[in-house]
Order: sequence, then structure tokens, then C-alpha cells
Amino acid sequence: SETKVDVVVIGAGISGLCAARQLERHGYDVQVVEARDRVGGRTYTINDPEFGAVDLGGAYVGPTQNRIYRLAKELGLKLYKVNYKQKTVMDLRGCWGKFMGTIPPFWNPWKILDLNHFIRTFDLMADQVPVEAPWKAKKALQWDRMTVEQFVDDTVWTRSVKELADICFRSIFCVELSEISLLFALWYVKSGGGVARISSVTNGAQERKISGGSQQISDGLAKQLKREVRLSSPVVKVTHRDDVTTVTDTHGHVYRCKYVVSAVPAPLLNRVEFDPPLSGRRMQLMQRMPMGSIIKTVMYYKTPFWRNYNLNGSMMSSQGVCVYCLDDTKPDGEHPAIMGFVVAQHARDMALATPLVRKEALCALYTRVFACEDFLHPVGYREYNWMDDQYSGGCYTSVLPPTVLTSFTSCLSEPCGCLYFAGTETATQWAGYMDGAVQAGERAANQILCKDGKISQDDIDKDEPESEDFPAAPIPFSYLEYYLPSPSALLRCAVISLVGFTACSVYVFMFSWKGALFWRWVR
Ligand code: FAD
Repeated sequence: SETKVDVVVIGAGISGLCAARQLERHGYDVQVVEARDRVGGRTYTINDPEFGAVDLGGAYVGPTQNRIYRLAKELGLKLYKVNYKQKTVMDLRGCWGKFMGTIPPFWNPWKILDLNHFIRTFDLMADQVPVEAPWKAKKALQWDRMTVEQFVDDTVWTRSVKELADICFRSIFCVELSEISLLFALWYVKSGGGVARISSVTNGAQERKISGGSQQISDGLAKQLKREVRLSSPVVKVTHRDDVTTVTDTHGHVYRCKYVVSAVPAPLLNRVEFDPPLSGRRMQLMQRMPMGSIIKTVMYYKTPFWRNYNLNGSMMSSQGVCVYCLDDTKPDGEHPAIMGFVVAQHARDMALATPLVRKEALCALYTRVFACEDFLHPVGYREYNWMDDQYSGGCYTSVLPPTVLTSFTSCLSEPCGCLYFAGTETATQWAGYMDGAVQAGERAANQILCKDGKISQDDIDKDEPESEDFPAAPIPFSYLEYYLPSPSALLRCAVISLVGFTACSVYVFMFSWKGALFWRWVR
């Protein structure tokens, strides 16, 4: 069987659906073809008979993610704030403490200087990386040859701050620090507005969730399309011969079209056969963009008892299977729960165990870290292992090992003949996030509109106006944060001062009457 359309979009995640909608708005006949039996891709909301809407994929939204705010508003979705009112627990080796806000409870001034210096250095380096073309940064080659682990080892002095950096990067990228290029990490974090914005709850990327689940965004977008999304139809072949492009799915259904938009995670495109083949550079790139490793978990309890202990249900741990967790109780207090991320090597190790073992390991961890036995008695547990999902191949996103960014990525969002590329991996703002997926989808559609002379080049990737409902509070560097010395600078200062003081003292002594006596004695 055969269908004739203007554009075929491969993948009904947020990005593909945004691309389709944008093209339809300009009069194109678009068919979205999706491998799974549902839309939404890496956003996945199950409507659980016991616990209601459970977000097992992308869920959190925060300030400056204006595209997602726009979509949520258009689709009539409500957002609520994640509970973060009471104390968070930090669990590092030999360093346990509760704290409010985002600054961990270090009493040792050395650690405070170290943490401040680390965040400041990372953000200042990230500022030098152009988000549109990170390979053009002045030190791109040097930074791209380095792993984040090497950078942390070179920059951080104290074990506690190293562990915090480890928690932070592992929960952002879902891989070990030794697996990613420093340049990629700088670019990715900059595309999300810096370390504080990307890692915070209040005024940060984890500030809010969508009532009823994030998959509603894709459900809503799909409903707006004129053609129904073709589900359970993995695309296996794209052919372009004599000005005719055809896309074939596993059922043998053929779509004839003028343009194709790929909105699948970049490494998964390897499974699609292209005739003529994609450029060698792109094929090499697709082999070098591994997806992160994550099992997302939600543990349900009878009551949100942690709040009675002045805890907000959030912890960061360097010593357990879960690096980071948050209160996942619904805003009306229904279905009290803790959402926990099992990421990177922990996810790979825990994937070998059964869900029951994972559940017990998490309960034991929460009990130890929160110092509260009530965590041993959950009433339910839901999880999703994204490494087992063949249409994502891992999550949240693709990461780039050393040297890939400077060698290959300039072609990531460049069209290849009649093939255009969407997907959050190709975004330049909030890449890897739902917001990035919107930007990339709309940009890919705009590239087609520009090719057909319907919009100008300048209109391809326009800035999104700030959301009126959720304006972002700035995250300024305070005077102290900017000028506090690093531990090494302080040490250098101390050594120079000591040497200077000793030299001055000797000088003064030599010219005093005691010095004269001393010289006479020496002679
Ligand atoms: P996808 O959603 O991956 O869409 C691609 C689609 O292509 C899929 O539907 C897939 O089935 C389909 N496909 C694949 N191969 C084929 C084929 N051959 N033929 C046809 N279709 C195919 N983002 C946030 O903003 N905030 C968060 O808190 C957050 N947390 C996350 C937590 C987890 C556990 C995960 C998994 C993701 C998280 N993300 C988060 C990331 C966010 O979900 C993604 O960035 C976003 O959903 C990506 O959208 P996309 O459309 O680019 O890709």
C-alpha cells in the first residue's frame, strides 16, 4: 500500500509532533510515522489504576523553558511546583547533613571555597562556548580531548566536592564522568542556562511538573494533526531516486513525499537503511552518540511522613544505587511518593537484578540516608528501565565522548538532501530536554519552509519570548561567589605571605641592635 504526502516525519515524540504541526500550519500534508504503539517517545505517562498518572520518562520543567510553557498553555495543561519546602539531605562519604535551598551544608571553609571555585570555573568556561557552534570555542580542541572526570580531578581539591560534582554530572548525563567530553558538558550545561539553573529545583530545571503527566503534551499535539499518527510502524528504509523520496515501514507500507524529517534519537537512525546512503561523516557521528543509562523509579508510601521530620523527600547520595531523589507526591497530597534516579554504572549494574531487588535496595538507601525506618514500608513501586527500550536505547539523551564534538557534530542539524533533522539532540537551547525537543522540531520544519521560500533564513530559529505565567528569576553571580579565592589561590597567598613575612622579619632583625650583636657574634 502507498500514501502520498508532502512530508513524512519519523518519530512521534515531542520534537516530531512539533515539526509536523508547524508544517501543517503552513499548508503541508504531513504524515507522522511512529515505531511505538503510543506517541510521546521519551515522555511516558502510565495511568496506573492504583497511583494515577505516573511519569516514567521526562517530567520536570523549569524557568526559561519557554517553549514547553507555551505548549502546556496552548494545550490547557496545568503545572504544579515540586515540593521543596523543607530540608534536603546530602549523603557523602564521611559527610552527612540536612540543608535548605541549594547550598550544601559544608562547615569546612576549605570545601566552601572549593565548591564555589568549581561552579564558577565551570560556568565561566561554559560562557566561552557558543551554543550554536561549540566546536568554534577558542579552546574547543583542548576541552574536547578532556573528559569531565579529568577536569574535576584537576579543578577540585576536596573529596566532598568531587563527590558532589560526580552526583551532579551523573544525574544530568546518566553516564560516568569518564565517558563524556568536557566541551560537550560545557555546551550542554550552557544550553540549559548554567550549573545552578540546570541542577536546581527552585528557579531551576526541576521546579515544576505537569498535572496528569508530560505525555499529555504529545497526546495533545497528535490530536491537533490532520492526519492520524501511524503507530506501531517502525521506519526501516528511506529511498531517494529520480527526485522521488519514499519512506517504508516494517509493514511494507510506502509513503511518497518531498521531504523527510527524522525526529528519532540520532544513534537510532543507524537502524534505518538509506538509499543513497547518508554521508560517511554522519554515519560515523551516529556511531559515536551513545545514550545515557537510567532506570527511573517511583516508590509509593501511605503518607508523606518525611514532611513530619522536616524533610522535603529530596536527597543526593554518592554512596547508594540512587544518586538523586525528589518528592513525587501529587499537589493535592494524593499518592505520596519518592521519585529516584538510578543512573550511569549503577543503572547498568542494577539492570541485572530483579525489580524486587531494586525496590529493596532503594528502600534500604532511603532509610539510611533519611535516617528514618518508615521508608522500609512502601505501598507500591513503579519503575522503567530505559536501557531496555529499543526505540530510545537509553536516556535522557545522547552524550558525546571526547573528540566527537570537534570532529563530527557540525553536521548534526544540517539537512542531508531532502532529509531534515529534529530531536532534542539537535537543539541549541535546553538540548536533551523536552524544551529542546520543541525547539529542534520547529527549527527542522522552518528549514523546510525556508527551502520552499515561505520564510526567510532569519526566521528559522527564532528566540522564544519569555513566558508571562512563569517568568525566570535571574541567577546572578554574587560579589562573593565571583571574588572568593579558590583553595589553591588561598594556599598560594598563604605561602607567599609566610615567605614575605619571614623575609621582612629577618630584614628588620638584621638592622636592629640585636641583629648587630648577632653579626658581631657570627664574625
Ligand atoms: P523521543 O521522545 O525519543 O521521540 C522519538 C520518537 O521516535 C519516539 O517516539 C520513538 O519511538 C520514535 N522512533 C524511534 N525509532 C523509530 C523508527 N525507526 N521509526 C519510527 N519511529 C521511531 N526532559 C525534561 O525536559 N525534563 C525532565 O525532567 C526529563 N527527565 C527525563 C527522565 C527520563 C527517565 C527520560 C527518559 C527523559 C527525560 N527527559 C527530560 C528528556 C526528555 O524526555 C526528552 O528530551 C524528550 O522527550 C525528547 O523528545 P524527542 O521528540 O526529541 O525524542
